[in-house]
Amino acid sequence: MSRPTAIFRKLEGVKGYLIDLDGVVYSSGKPIAGAVETVHWLRSAEIPHKFVTNTSVMSRQSLVNKMNAMGFEVDQSDLITAASAAAKYLREQGDVSAYLLAYEDVRKDFTGINLETTDPDYVVIGSRDDGYGYEHLRRAFRYLYQGAKFIAIHKNRTWMRPDGLTMGVGAYVSMLQYAANVETIIIGKPSREFFELALKDLNLSPTEVAMIGDDLESDVLGAQRMGMKGIFAASGKYKRSDCAKLDIKPDVIIDDISDIRKAGSHH
Ligand SMILES: [Mg+2]
Repeated sequence: MSRPTAIFRKLEGVKGYLIDLDGVVYSSGKPIAGAVETVHWLRSAEIPHKFVTNTSVMSRQSLVNKMNAMGFEVDQSDLITAASAAAKYLREQGDVSAYLLAYEDVRKDFTGINLETTDPDYVVIGSRDDGYGYEHLRRAFRYLYQGAKFIAIHKNRTWMRPDGLTMGVGAYVSMLQYAANVETIIIGKPSREFFELALKDLNLSPTEVAMIGDDLESDVLGAQRMGMKGIFAASGKYKRSDCAKLDIKPDVIIDDISDIRKAGSHH
C-alpha cells in the first residue's frame, strides 16, 4: 500500500480541515514546500477548510496580507485567529475596557474596545517576543491584583523564530497568574470554545473534521479532545520523537501539508 493511500484510509469520513498556520503553511516568513498548491487544491476541490491560529504577533488583516504575498489567496473570512476571538469575547461582555499586552498591530483586532484606561476590566496578553518590557508586566500585574480579569490570547509554550525556538506567551501567563493569584481565561487553541467557533464556521461536526497542526498539544491533542482527528505535521516546531516524549498519538503523521493533497488527489 502506498503512503498516500494509507493516509487517505485513516482520513475516511473527514469532510473538512482546520489548518494551523505557523509551521504548517509557512515558517519563518516563507511558505512551506507544497503548501500554496495544497491550499489552492483545497479551494478548487471545494473541501471546507479554515485556518486557525494562535499567532498573536499581527492582526488578522496583516496575516491575510502576509499569506497573500506568499500566493495563498485568502481573505479574512478564511482565518480564525486567537486575537480576533479574544476581541469577540470582550465585545460579548458588553462595554468593557482592557489593558492589552501585545504588538501594536494586534490592537487593530480590538477596535471598539477601550484600550486606553488605567482602570481596565480585563488584562489581555498576546505574543511579544521582546518580553513586553518589565514596566508593562508590572502594570498588568497591578491591574490584575486590583481585580481585573485575565485573558490569555493563548498559552503556547514555544514558537519557532528564524534564529531558533523561543519562549511563547505561556510562561508569561503563568508568571502573572501566579503573582496576582488569579484565574486565566485562555481563548486560543486548545480551548474548547475556540474549536467550537471554528467548527461552527465550517458547519461540520467534530467527527467530520481533521485538524492539521505542528503543535502536538494545542493542535493535535486539542483536536482529539474535541472528537476531531489530529494530524501532526512534522514541518514545524515539534519533531516526530516528541510524540513519544509527550505521549501524544496523532491519528495521522505527515511530513508536510502537501501529503494531504497527495492522499486526496491520489484517490
Ligand atoms: Mg503552529
